Amino acid sequence: MPLADDRIGRMGFLLMLRRRGITDQAVLRAMDEVPREYFVPPEYVSTAYADHAMPIACGQTISQPYVVAYMTEQLAVTPACRVLEIGTGSGYQAAVLSRLAREVVSVERYRTLAEAARIRFETLGFDNIEVVVGDGFGGVPERAPYDRIMVTAATETVPPALVEQLGEGGIMVLPLGPQRGSQSIVKLTRPAQGLDRTDLIAVRFVPLLPGRAQEL
Ligand code: SAH
Repeated sequence: MPLADDRIGRMGFLLMLRRRGITDQAVLRAMDEVPREYFVPPEYVSTAYADHAMPIACGQTISQPYVVAYMTEQLAVTPACRVLEIGTGSGYQAAVLSRLAREVVSVERYRTLAEAARIRFETLGFDNIEVVVGDGFGGVPERAPYDRIMVTAATETVPPALVEQLGEGGIMVLPLGPQRGSQSIVKLTRPAQGLDRTDLIAVRFVPLLPGRAQEL
């Protein structure tokens, strides 16, 4: 009964997210609309809705669903928003953002991952996501400014180019902290002057690495 099992998995999934404190209905709907089993490696399909991170190609990870929902909720995406994501990985986070935003530009340093994500978006009909192969430290200046920016790999300091590309009134959510050590999700908001910072939950992310990947 794969269909029934899948349904139970997905219903339990939303319940789990609610129990963990996700309350934004639009975010819950977006999480419900994106089939996570398309984004995990074949050997993880049967446990795709479990609340943990999983390995993907190129030594990277697809984030834990709760963290995806939490960061998405903190980003406060509205239907008019243009969103920049750094770290496409499997494409799962970009897919969730695409259900809430006008358009998503997502940057990945591995061509292999970027290509696989593009194919997933095409298969699923998610046509408002553009995947760019490049170094996310520099953002994508030719498409700036962005209303929202999400980084899904950890860095010790906020990349200055991303601050520059965040529009006025914009919000950026990113994991900050050392590669091996305590990292936390930080929310930056950009009023007319300066930048406001709020530290949120503790997390563990793979590092944001400089440059485009040489191999693959
Ligand atoms: N958002 C992804 C998970 C990302 S894991 C998902 O939903 O599956 C972090 C990703 O960031 C990895 O794929 C890694 O290759 C990528 N990455 C790391 N440093 C980067 C950089 N400087 N520019 C672009 N992508 C980067």
